Amino acid sequence: MDSEFEFELQVCAWAERHWPPAGGDDRPVVVARQLGTGSRRWDTIVLVCDPEGLAARGAFGERRLDSDLLHVVRHAPPTWAWYREALPDPGYPWRYVREAVHRAADRGVIERRKRNGRVQLRRLRPYPDWVERVIAVENKPDLDAAAARALRPQLRHDVALALADEVWVATAEAGGRVEPALLEDIPVEAGILTVVPGDRGADATRVVWRPRTLPAEETGTRILENPAGGGHDTSAARFEYAEPDWKARKRLEIAERAYERGWRSYADSMRPDCRYFELRPRPEVARPYCVAKDCHQTAGECAGSCPAFEPEPPAWRQGEWPVDGGPGAGVKRLLERQRSRRRPGTE
Ligand code: SF4
Repeated sequence: MDSEFEFELQVCAWAERHWPPAGGDDRPVVVARQLGTGSRRWDTIVLVCDPEGLAARGAFGERRLDSDLLHVVRHAPPTWAWYREALPDPGYPWRYVREAVHRAADRGVIERRKRNGRVQLRRLRPYPDWVERVIAVENKPDLDAAAARALRPQLRHDVALALADEVWVATAEAGGRVEPALLEDIPVEAGILTVVPGDRGADATRVVWRPRTLPAEETGTRILENPAGGGHDTSAARFEYAEPDWKARKRLEIAERAYERGWRSYADSMRPDCRYFELRPRPEVARPYCVAKDCHQTAGECAGSCPAFEPEPPAWRQGEWPVDGGPGAGVKRLLERQRSRRRPGTE
């Protein structure tokens, strides 16, 4: 295994083809990576989708609908109406809603017109209920005692908040078992999955522990501070409640970002314009490879701050490399093609 990043890509590729781990469910999934809320980012997200809902979501375009656009699109009426009468009070100034109405109309997801100086809107189609389950996966290829301890507060946070329906830890299969002592540090509500490194076949994973379904539609608990414990620590935990409405909105916002980004968008933050950047084909999906470092580099390494970065020579941009604009631009287009090919509902 080259790195956690490599492992993460493997888990994404596997999940896209074979989720759920036990099989027996052929509902479509959308897989994305490194998404969540401001306070918590999940490594891998699997959205289990309603097939018809997902197809209907495709009619709203490939780009995400942000929270303001969702407010407009979800409540747009079937007949013309003044936006202030048609939409629920947003809890923030109406001028932002008016801007969102214009943005939505410019993107072709609602209709807009002006009557007697008032902006009216009408929906083109209902926004579908397309997300059935949100699954969060934490990837820890080397789940040793220290990693399990470090993971515990994050998983407890996830379980208490219950923003996702299920929380899993994926780890590399080492000799076919996970040490029982490590399991004690993982909350019982979280599932544990072992993955055979480098294998993305249907049998590449094994469920060590089944997760509990979390009450995603109920009030959750946001843990703000958790005392370390021990004999001298008498401080109390601090927490606040997360209302079901807030959770439903966050889930949909995360789902919209996942729909737009998928899991192949890592090259957006890497340097395919570096002369050492290559995509080396693996089964199913090409992986970034750094010729200078002779390894599959992580997205963090392959950034503007990389000391080994060298811009691709200008001649590469004019030569006969099979795509216009040089390898850097070509690599980005290749990944974009892979991304849209895999995004259900846009094929
Ligand atoms: S040298 Fe640095 S920037 Fe260039 S491909 Fe390698 S990791 Fe990326």
